[in-house]
Amino acid sequence: MSSLRITRIEVHEFGYDLKDMTKDYNGFNLGYKRGSTQRSVSYAMKVETNEGVTGEYIGGCSPTFAQFHMIANYLIGKDPLQRERLYNDMKRALRKYDKMGMGPIDIALWDLAGKYYNASISEMLGGWKESLPCYASTYHGDRNGGLDSPAAFAEFALQCKNMGYPAFKIHGWGDCDIKEEIENIYAIRDKVGDDMDLMNDPACEPRTFMEALKIGRACDEANLVWLEDPYADTGISQHAHRKLRQMISTPILVTEHIRGLEQHVDFIANEATDIVRVDANYDGGITGAIKIAHAAEGFGLDVEIHAPGPAHRHLMSAIRNTNYYEMALVHPLTDEHGLPPVYSCSYKDGLHAIDDKGHVPVPVGPGLGVSYDWDFIMENRMGGRVYEA
Ligand SMILES: [Mg+2]
Repeated sequence: MSSLRITRIEVHEFGYDLKDMTKDYNGFNLGYKRGSTQRSVSYAMKVETNEGVTGEYIGGCSPTFAQFHMIANYLIGKDPLQRERLYNDMKRALRKYDKMGMGPIDIALWDLAGKYYNASISEMLGGWKESLPCYASTYHGDRNGGLDSPAAFAEFALQCKNMGYPAFKIHGWGDCDIKEEIENIYAIRDKVGDDMDLMNDPACEPRTFMEALKIGRACDEANLVWLEDPYADTGISQHAHRKLRQMISTPILVTEHIRGLEQHVDFIANEATDIVRVDANYDGGITGAIKIAHAAEGFGLDVEIHAPGPAHRHLMSAIRNTNYYEMALVHPLTDEHGLPPVYSCSYKDGLHAIDDKGHVPVPVGPGLGVSYDWDFIMENRMGGRVYEA
């Protein structure tokens, strides 16, 4: 055990504005509307130690923070380098819940360890990839003059292809019309030709298994590389996805909405997904996410990381069995990507963050390799909590 101890943890809730954004029919999906502003909330975390080294991370949502409150006092006085021990103790503490509260703190502990060892998270994981190929992951379709038709989606897919993106993922319309969703898949494939990978993420909007099957058959016809979260079970039924896999040839990608190593392994072992989904924020941090990536590797499957961010770039740099970085969310008429503007360094995500091959770099430097704009966070602070001995 090192002599390093966690002495203090701060969590700050802060607000930020999303330009040209609104919510759609039920208030859940974010979509384009020129001139409209949507207020959003995120969380900034700082971990301090007795030797002055600190860890930071920005991410998570209000349920995450609510769960974090259940484990924060446990962490005070612990050795922050013992991430496997902390992972297992936090996991047990949150066993009655979905365990999302342990993700952001684990990422902050990896940032702290990187600063302690003077190594990036990628280096600590044995990473080697320096440049990551991206897919353009769209906002949901809108009815406000943006991604408002299959023709508009197709035009945007072509724009992304011309920018260098090797792949494009559709998030269709809220309260969707299955005929229009299918038309959209064909329109995009027709427009971009055969040499761009296409994915479809109905985001659990289709109401029935039959609707999912119809979309799946269109994905087969248009040669998509995956169909994600196909319908309203919300991507959690092993039985349903195993059945759907038997009926279509397009690979299914689910497991974004189940949490942690064991549930992912059960999904894989029961042949209920072709491609595994992981998110460090949701699945126990970097510690939990790399376990899932290696479990998928052991089954010979690929794992695709959900959503962008510096933690996910480090993670992806150290995983063999993965294909694309999700550049989300993107739209033809706004650069708004939906994430908080919290970097005081050159790090960026968004439609234009790629190079001409459609890649983004892995941050260099200790820990996450980014610096946060704490002035912005404190100016927009809405609340928070300090935990200390
Ligand atoms: Mg998704």
